[in-house]
Amino acid sequence: MKALRYAAWDVLEMATVDDPVPTAGEAVLQVAAVGICGSEVEAVAARSPRRTPPLVMGHEFCGEIVAVAPDVTEFKVGDRVVASSLIPCGRCASCRAGAVHLCPDRGIFGMNRPGAFAERVAAPARVLLPLPERVSPVQGALVEPLANGVHVWSRLEQKFPETVMVIGCGAIGLLALQVARAGGALRLVAVDTSDARLAMAHAVGAEPLLNPVRDAVVSEIRAFTRGRGADVVIDAAGTAATRRTAVEAVRPGGEVVWIGTHGDATELSGRDVVLGERRISGSYAVTYDDLRTAVALFAHGRIEIEPWVRPFPLDEGARVFRELLTAPSADYAKALLLP
Ligand SMILES: [Zn+2]
Ligand SMILES: [Zn+2]
Repeated sequence: MKALRYAAWDVLEMATVDDPVPTAGEAVLQVAAVGICGSEVEAVAARSPRRTPPLVMGHEFCGEIVAVAPDVTEFKVGDRVVASSLIPCGRCASCRAGAVHLCPDRGIFGMNRPGAFAERVAAPARVLLPLPERVSPVQGALVEPLANGVHVWSRLEQKFPETVMVIGCGAIGLLALQVARAGGALRLVAVDTSDARLAMAHAVGAEPLLNPVRDAVVSEIRAFTRGRGADVVIDAAGTAATRRTAVEAVRPGGEVVWIGTHGDATELSGRDVVLGERRISGSYAVTYDDLRTAVALFAHGRIEIEPWVRPFPLDEGARVFRELLTAPSADYAKALLLP
């Protein structure tokens, strides 16, 4: 079969690879659509040891089952499914507590087993969820990133935050904004250094829009909130500067969720956190509940993707990757491949 192969450091190319055969507990999917994740672009750019070529990447995918191992009873050939990107061990304390995303022995598609930048991919049936007919293949490939936005929302204790600010309007930020809207947030503030990305945020419901290149984000957000600050700030960029802005922009008693991982060490005002009882949580990956919620949000038409998602044929994958690595287009925030 055809696959977009990460053949060597800096080299992505179309290749012919062996067709997957389902081993015990597995199904093989005909991939309908697969997203290119920012983490994969970053891994290639940084020659990350977590993704070592030769490798077929791709962990955000959906498709139709074309083969199952004899012991698989929950799915059959012809079923439409979406996969979790993680393959938890199912036995450890985290897995038994339902926190499968924190499993220390988790596998990941396109990292320690072949991913879905290919015509077909094998997947353990236990990490698959049914995909309803009314959820399109392109939406199906966005279930995993949308579930990341749902997971962010699940980290919050406030039930009805009035003002939610999202820093970083890449795919995760644009999805987190829409989860916040579906979750009842009344005002969505988007922050990004790119006006093109802010226009995408506006198209999915954010208003006002702040660009830190020209706007003093913290004083602007205070002006919108009678001097208090946002109830919730989600940092989907993850630099030291954006994490600091998130903490400075949230009101006393408010909540900050960090999901980006661009930078690591971050200097913050400890007094802002202590004297204002501001809470900071991390958000990593997704649970099966998050995935089910994401499927439901798509099924009920709550998520806009037209303004910022662009599908390409799998054959163009190497070119699209090169573009994302060198000169990302301002026309879209998320590229998908259609095998
Ligand atoms: Zn991803
Ligand atoms: Zn586990």
